This record gives sequence, structure tokens and C-alpha cells, in this order.
Amino acid sequence: MLKHSIFSLLLSGLLLFSCDTTSTLSNVSSTPVEFVILQLNDVYEIAPLEGGKVGGLARVAGLLRQLEAENPNTIAVMAGDFLSPSFMGTLKLDNGERIAGLQMVETLNALGLDYATFGNHEFDLKDATLLEKRIDQSQFEYMSANAYCVDGEQQRAFQQNGKPVPAFSTYTFEQNGATYNVALVGVVLPFARPPYVGYKDVEATFAEAVKAARQENDLVIGLTHLSVDGDEALAAAVPGLPLFMGGHEHENLSRYVGQTAITKADANAKTVYIHRVTYYPDSKVSRIFSELVPINEATPEDPTTAAVVDKWQAKIGDLIRQMGYDASAKLTTLSSPLIGTEAATRSSQTNYGLLTNQAIAKAWPGADVYAFNSGSLRLDDNLSGAVTAYDVLRSFPYGGPVVRMSIKGDQLAHFLDTGETTNFGEGGYLQRYQAEKKGEKWMINGNPLDASKTYVIVVPEFVAKGLEANLEFLSEYTYDKLDEFAASGEVVKNDIRDMVIWYMGGM
Ligand SMILES: [Zn+2]
Repeated sequence: MLKHSIFSLLLSGLLLFSCDTTSTLSNVSSTPVEFVILQLNDVYEIAPLEGGKVGGLARVAGLLRQLEAENPNTIAVMAGDFLSPSFMGTLKLDNGERIAGLQMVETLNALGLDYATFGNHEFDLKDATLLEKRIDQSQFEYMSANAYCVDGEQQRAFQQNGKPVPAFSTYTFEQNGATYNVALVGVVLPFARPPYVGYKDVEATFAEAVKAARQENDLVIGLTHLSVDGDEALAAAVPGLPLFMGGHEHENLSRYVGQTAITKADANAKTVYIHRVTYYPDSKVSRIFSELVPINEATPEDPTTAAVVDKWQAKIGDLIRQMGYDASAKLTTLSSPLIGTEAATRSSQTNYGLLTNQAIAKAWPGADVYAFNSGSLRLDDNLSGAVTAYDVLRSFPYGGPVVRMSIKGDQLAHFLDTGETTNFGEGGYLQRYQAEKKGEKWMINGNPLDASKTYVIVVPEFVAKGLEANLEFLSEYTYDKLDEFAASGEVVKNDIRDMVIWYMGGM
């Protein structure tokens, strides 16, 4: 039975140091073995962001090559959310199939990723066939203790090249003439609910996998895609692991629950975690030194990975030009971030939602209320620093026009209540402008909503057609639609992306 009782010392916001307290350092083995883990989580973009300043998987690969030169016993892991969402992923290949994460799989293959666990966004892919195709195309191993495939009447494990995706994967390395096994146990929050995915209980399946992994491995580590509350609960329920390498949150964090360090890097590889693990075979004690490392212009690129990124960027550049956009056009520099994470936009009014509605209102003024479904904002990240047209395209990958309709006050109240309450937490949660809830009452442009009055609203055509959840009743209304707007002396195409690009360009 292995014991990993962790003593922790937070050296700074960026460094974690863990070791065993049940043995003092003086009685641990004098012949420790060492291996290194590079942790990525929540990566949607293969190329650098913020005008090239931060992130970029070719740079992560360059860092990985340095770590491998330091210690050949180095692995790279992904703690979920990478096949979706991205603007690139929504575009179609020559065979008509959506790119749907292929750009990421090819880039991570070149980078040399070793292991991945599912995030909720992997299940954005339209069906199990496409997801399993991407899994098969991956040269890295997937593992998940609790997510399974619902295939008609049958429940089965997802498959990778004909073999079931296991609850845990084992990394084996040799040092000092001996072989060591490190198990990585994967788990994902049961958030995405397409018909082809089912989930077993997170705690029960994780506990079972950890128990099985301990039988045959020297060390067991979690690769978790959970909310931080979920990670904390799991670390309390299944104690004794030295480390959970986590995802889902998009801002870096580190904390301890009992013996377990929980680490999450920033989304889109703005940072990565490097875990240097020292393992003492005699006492079965592990010490982990964890460091959050920024990925920026100072990080050298790996040329092989850069070539794959460049190939995809060129392909995407062509597709974007065909759509009539200049992806690299710089629109503005933000002094504070625009909030576009799903957790925020599907449950609260954010400044990016407001800016989007204000852009629409500037292009098509005169309506009483502007609103759009937060599900059309697919960034699941915040924008900061220099913003390009590409940032707007990746915010609204599906785009689409807005339309104008007249509805009675009582129906407007029903529309707004559905957006705020019934659709809370979902893509049908409404980002709105000129409609505010004060207590139980809606205020429209500062005046109480009048149930018998007729109001003019501007919403995406998708919403007007009744295609958004619980807003089907809107399909009974007719609407006006324009192809373009003559706004402030300029012509703006009626597409949410064009309006936001135009508006930001004038900021
Ligand atoms: Zn997630």
C-alpha cells in the first residue's frame, strides 16, 4: 500500500512544493528517481493570442523539448477542453467535414502530447463517430473513469483504435536500472449532455480507478477536468494523491486539500504547469515541485510544431479571406478584459455581452430592447490586450444576422424571464441591453414594462425563428430583416461578427 502524505509550502503564487510528512527528509531513500510533467488545460487556439504576445503551442513544444533535454523522463498531459470550441473548428475541410478539432489533434501530435482526458467541450463534437475519429487520429492516449459512450441501447467505453478508453493510463519509465509506473486517472464533470455521452458518478468511479491503479503502480496522479469545487470535493473524498492536474477554470490557480495539490494553468497555454516529481522508491515517498511558467515571446518555438501551426493558419487564413474578413486587422486595445467565459456569459450580464448588444444597437438603432442568446458567444475565454478581427470571429464562430420584431409587453416579459431564469446556465441565457430587472419588475429603457404596450426588439434570427430552448413561442411572430445597415455613413453587413468588428474598430 502506498502512502503519499504531502507537506506543502507555498513559496510564491507561482511555485508549489510538496513532500511527504510521514517520513522526514533525512530518512527518505538516497537514490531517488525523477520525472517531469508538463500540464496543459483548456486550449482552443493553436497560435499565439493578444497580437502574438501570449500562448502558442509551438512555444509550448519548444519548452517541452528543453525539458526533455534536461530529463528524458518527461511527459506532456492535457487536462481536457481542446477539440472545441474554436472558430477554426467550425470551418469545413475540402471533404465537407467540419475541422472540429483536427487542427488541435495534429498540432498536439507534433508537440508530442502523451496523455489527455476529456473536458466537457470534447462532447461538443456532433456525434460519437466524429469524436472517436479524432481520438483515433490522436497519437496520445485518452483516459476517463466516468464518461462513457451511449451507442443506441448500448452503453460502452469510448474507443481509441479499437480499444476501450481506460479509467487510467500508465506512464512507465526506467531509471537507475529499475522500472517505475505512474498512473494518471482521468475524470470529467458531467456537464455536456449530448445524447451520445453518459456519466458515472465522479467520486465513486475515481475512487475505484485509484484503488485499481494503486495495485499496479508506484505513484497515482489525477488528471481532472472538474470545477475547482469539484476538485476540492474529490480530493477530500479520495485522499492521498499528491497531485490533481486540473482544467475547466480558465485562470491559473493552485491550492491544497489535505495532501493533494490542485493545479490549473491559464487557458490557451498562456501559462503551463511544470511538475518536477522526485520519487523515493524505498520509502515510496514523492516530492513534487510545481512551477507555473508563462508562454510568451521569450519562449523558443519548436520548428516541427510551428510548421503544423503555420499550415493550419494558412488554410484558415484562406477560408477567412473567402468569407470577406481580414483576420489580422487590429481593432482596438482593451484596457480591461472583455468577459467571455461560458460560466460568466451563461449566468450573468457581462461587458462583452453589453458591447455586442451596443454594437447591434449602433448599427440598427431605434429598438426598445436588444438581446442575444449567450450560446452564440463561443469564446469561453476573456479577451484582453490587442483585439483582432480573428478574436471576434472566434467569439462568434457561427455568426448570423439579427432581425427586428414587435411583441406585446406580456410576451416581452415572458421572453426576458425565460432568458434570465429558465435558461440560466444554458446557451439560451440572454445577454440583453435596455432591459433590466428591478426586484420582480422589468424596466425597459428605465420605465416599468407595460404588459399591454407593443415593444420592438432586435434579436438574432436564430432566436426569432424559435430555435433557442424555451423560446420556441417567438416563431409565431413575423420579423423584418435587412441585409446590411447604413450606419454612421458606413455600410455594415447584417452579421453579428461584422457589427462587433465595425464597432470595436471605432472604439
Ligand atoms: Zn471545461
